[in-house]
Amino acid sequence: MASSRGPITRPRPSWGWQDDAACRGQSLTLFFGYEGERAEARDARERMAKAICAECPVRRECVEFALSRPEKYGIWSLTEDERASVRRRRMRRAAMAGVSAAPSNEVVKEEEKHCSSCRTTWPVANFARDISKRDGLQTWCRRCTNAARARKAEQAVAS
Ligand code: SF4
Ligand SMILES: [Zn+2]
Repeated sequence: MASSRGPITRPRPSWGWQDDAACRGQSLTLFFGYEGERAEARDARERMAKAICAECPVRRECVEFALSRPEKYGIWSLTEDERASVRRRRMRRAAMAGVSAAPSNEVVKEEEKHCSSCRTTWPVANFARDISKRDGLQTWCRRCTNAARARKAEQAVAS
């Protein structure tokens, strides 16, 4: 029987896996790069980041999360180009099977927020509370906040 064409509902992502991420506390610029980064620097950075990902116990969850949405930036076990190619492959396969595999923007939109540091859209559960902010949440996601704290702690030890 043909499938119905109603809105696609996707499972809500589970965020527990982030607690075990090998990149926790690592510098975010290692995973997300920076404006004006040169190709050689980017390649070296991506190799370093992927070496961390290779040892990560939640690699699969991380990749599937990044593939399940239009996530353009950063290393999520795969580079931006690698993700694009996996998406294309999946979409080709899905087109052959007659279903849609396009990354969806529909993932519980009203409960998401954009991190102003890593430029990633996360569920609001990924932002700590900050009553001084208009929406009551910090502008940086927990991952960026933790990375900044770890950097600060390192600097404090070094000085
Ligand atoms: S696989 Fe994902 S969660 Fe694990 S270290 Fe790499 S970017 Fe972080
Ligand atoms: Zn962030």
